[in-house]
Amino acid sequence: MAIRLHDTKRGRKVDFEPLDENRVTMYLCGPTVYNYAHIGNARPAVVFDLLARLLRRRYTLKFARNFTDVDDKINAASLETGRPIHEITERFKRVYNEDMAALGVLPPDVEPCATEHIDEMIAMIETLIEKGHAYEAEGHVLFDVESNPDYGSLSKRDLREMIAGARVEVAPYKKAAQDFVLWKPSTPELPGWDSPWGRGRPGWHIECSAMAERHLGTTIDIHAGGQDLVFPHHENEMAQSTCAHDGAVFANYWLHNGFLSMDRAKMSKSLGNVLLVHDLIERIPGEVMRLALLSAHYRQPLDWSDDTVDAAQRMLDRLYGAVRGIEVSEDRRAEASPPEAMIEALEDDLNTPKAMAEFFALAKTLNKATDEGERERLAASMYAAGELMGLLSSDPEDWFVGEDGDDAGIQALIDERAAAKRERDFARADGIRDELAARGIAIEDGPDGTTWRRARTADE
Ligand code: AMP
Ligand code: ZN
Repeated sequence: MAIRLHDTKRGRKVDFEPLDENRVTMYLCGPTVYNYAHIGNARPAVVFDLLARLLRRRYTLKFARNFTDVDDKINAASLETGRPIHEITERFKRVYNEDMAALGVLPPDVEPCATEHIDEMIAMIETLIEKGHAYEAEGHVLFDVESNPDYGSLSKRDLREMIAGARVEVAPYKKAAQDFVLWKPSTPELPGWDSPWGRGRPGWHIECSAMAERHLGTTIDIHAGGQDLVFPHHENEMAQSTCAHDGAVFANYWLHNGFLSMDRAKMSKSLGNVLLVHDLIERIPGEVMRLALLSAHYRQPLDWSDDTVDAAQRMLDRLYGAVRGIEVSEDRRAEASPPEAMIEALEDDLNTPKAMAEFFALAKTLNKATDEGERERLAASMYAAGELMGLLSSDPEDWFVGEDGDDAGIQALIDERAAAKRERDFARADGIRDELAARGIAIEDGPDGTTWRRARTADE
């Protein structure tokens, strides 16, 4: 069975057929490095890290995630703080990678920076001018959207309507309102590079087109990013790249993650309702955040709340509880694989809720197994599943450090179970019992209520 992916351009789920089985290529638009990433920004990084892990099971993958290190927002941050641009971008590149590593995001194969690809951008702009798809005006170079009949096909917008509906004040040097900047002039205090059109700097969209071509080739298999990038960023990238390459397809599959919200409002820097990964990491384990981000299907919206985090924490407690105290030899680990049903769920357009359900089914089988050999085999499969998801990377004993001393927390769960039973929510009550069992807590119901004791530990 082929891997199935939802392609934004075709508007449906399709079989994934790479151009070259031996070298699958994927490009993810990375961060603009002028401040800390919020948990919404982490969603594409985590989701497409999971896709990269999944693809690597079958293919040799070249995965590029860029850094946008030349941008007006960076210039503004430099003016505001008085710090040199380079210092800001270097700092936030490092912080971004540290934060993503804490979320189990593996480094991509290449992390190109825009400022290191200015020559490629200039060359691509020159080609676009030569081929009649771009024009120079007052030190700017603009992409001529009307020269590209396909413009709007990714975001399903009609160019005529877009132009007619343009309310923004149109710069006088533009031929059409939707024409976008490929190159713009820089003043002496702003970053700039010499070009055939004078000293200037690139527009945002051309950066990704040039970096994708340089590192992955003319046509790439998968291009990914957050939903908000479909228009204008990806539409414009596609226009530039296809027109520069005489109509060659730019990306065969376009993947977009849904938005993360908080209290139902989109999380964004401009709204100011952001939770920074850098801060959250102080109090929430990275794997808990990762699982919370993967708990909804990647194309669905995800609301971030204490409940989302608590649910992920409990899920991980159950998974770690199942493997706790089981020694798994290196050989067993090497030969183990995740459950087939879990792989199938992920290969079906990254169905993480279904994949997690299969993960729990495995944990449940392990909890019930009594034969030592069987338990080791199942635990090895749990670790393989964990590796694929980017979970279970801690030692289970370390995971629970301090946890079992948390008598108040245990009592709270027991109280919650009693309430669930009163409300005849037996599934929830059983779930809590399983969860406690996974943490090594045995409970007993008696005439005076429920008592609990610590069950066996790894050393017993
Ligand atoms: P930015 O640094 O704003 O360009 O965003 C970096 C990445 O995060 C892009 O792929 C965005 O689409 C994505 N992104 C930004 N905000 C959110 C959000 N609230 N939920 C999910 N993805 C987001
Ligand atoms: Zn991009």
